[in-house]
Amino acid sequence: MDFSLNESEHELVALCRDFAQKEIAPRAPLAWEEARCPTDLLREMGELGLLGMLIPEEWGGIGMSTIGFVAAMEQIGLADQSVAAAWQAHSTIGSLPLYLFGNDVQRERWLRPLAEGSVLGAFGLTEPDAGSDARGIRTRAASRDGGWLINGRKTFISNAGTDMSFGVTLLARIETAEGETPKFATLVVEKDTPGFTVGPKMLGIGWRGLDTRDLYLDDVWVPDDHLVGDPNLGLTQFLRTLEVGRISIAALSLSLTQAVLDMATAYALQRVQFGQPISKFQAVQFKLADIATELEAARWLTYRAAYLRDTGQPFHKEAAMAKLKASRVATWAASEAVQIHGGVGYMLETPVARFYCDSKVLEIGEGTNEIQHLVIARALGC
Ligand SMILES: Cc1cc2nc3c(=O)[nH]c(=O)nc-3n(C[C@H](O)[C@H](O)[C@H](O)COP(=O)(O)OP(=O)(O)OC[C@H]3O[C@@H](n4cnc5c(N)ncnc54)[C@H](O)[C@@H]3O)c2cc1C
Repeated sequence: MDFSLNESEHELVALCRDFAQKEIAPRAPLAWEEARCPTDLLREMGELGLLGMLIPEEWGGIGMSTIGFVAAMEQIGLADQSVAAAWQAHSTIGSLPLYLFGNDVQRERWLRPLAEGSVLGAFGLTEPDAGSDARGIRTRAASRDGGWLINGRKTFISNAGTDMSFGVTLLARIETAEGETPKFATLVVEKDTPGFTVGPKMLGIGWRGLDTRDLYLDDVWVPDDHLVGDPNLGLTQFLRTLEVGRISIAALSLSLTQAVLDMATAYALQRVQFGQPISKFQAVQFKLADIATELEAARWLTYRAAYLRDTGQPFHKEAAMAKLKASRVATWAASEAVQIHGGVGYMLETPVARFYCDSKVLEIGEGTNEIQHLVIARALGC
């Protein structure tokens, strides 16, 4: 297996590093503090072609490999996790259902603007009573008048309520007769559709710049051409999309771990206690060495999952392993990095504290780590 980057992947990484350091790093922390989604930055990323990473040029994207996407994420996430989270959600779960399962008319209408970066994509699966248990969703779609009448509520949906949002691609249970096997439909609901409303921006302990909201669907009617893919396979389509999302969360986790490792190392080299830099103490050195080693292990799992996808091989189990390992490493590493900073690391004005807050959700979003265990165990035959 060769995970080395080709020329176009190298160029992309350089572009992302430059944009992340010059634009994201100085501007995003204020948006985090103000709990505001920095769509100005996301628009600029769109102008650079970065919002259509995994979409072929034919549909307005740049047709990047998954390995290239992971490498680009390592740069963007180093600068700010909320921007990286919004970007990754848009690039994978927000756009891929339309690319993977939509027809050409739908791709032209909704995917092209997403890939060209003029609008932001959202993925509506989770509901108040159905998170891990996706099959348990209650949002209903009934076939009416040449279209679909949708009623229900979604929760924790990212990127659906910004000034750049186009609406949402959501999953709904199709109204069926009593006793019939449940069926699920993937439907596009545009933001100004009557009956579709978004709740206030939710505030988490991290990812404060990410726009996450409840969505309400009260007698929302969309025509038949808003149905994406096979009406019998909507759930499968959503779960397949999430497999790519897991590689993306793993990549985000790598970027967070690298960021806190860099911060903790720099701090340890300059913080003097007992007459010498704390980096001279073996207890501190071992923490840094452990983070670096675990990061490298997580990195190999993540690039391997990306490589498998790029080479057309099954990557279901490997994406779950990458997400499980990389997110665990990230939350642990963030805690160790705060420890190395001592009291100053606990204060929100210190960047490491912000990354610590951002780390926990990596073990929850796009399938909790318990669900990743189930996916891996099932792949082992359990
Ligand atoms: C910031 C943020 C952004 C998000 N963005 C989106 C988005 O854009 N779109 C979207 O659809 N969703 C989104 N989500 C939702 C996210 O995917 C869910 O929170 C996640 O899937 C878990 O669902 P839940 O919160 O309902 O937890 P639950 O499913 O209620 O789980 C609670 C606990 O029970 C455990 N558990 C559940 N079932 C099992 C089992 N079978 N075996 C063992 N343990 C189990 C879980 O692992 C967890 O620890 C977002 C969430 C957050 C926090």
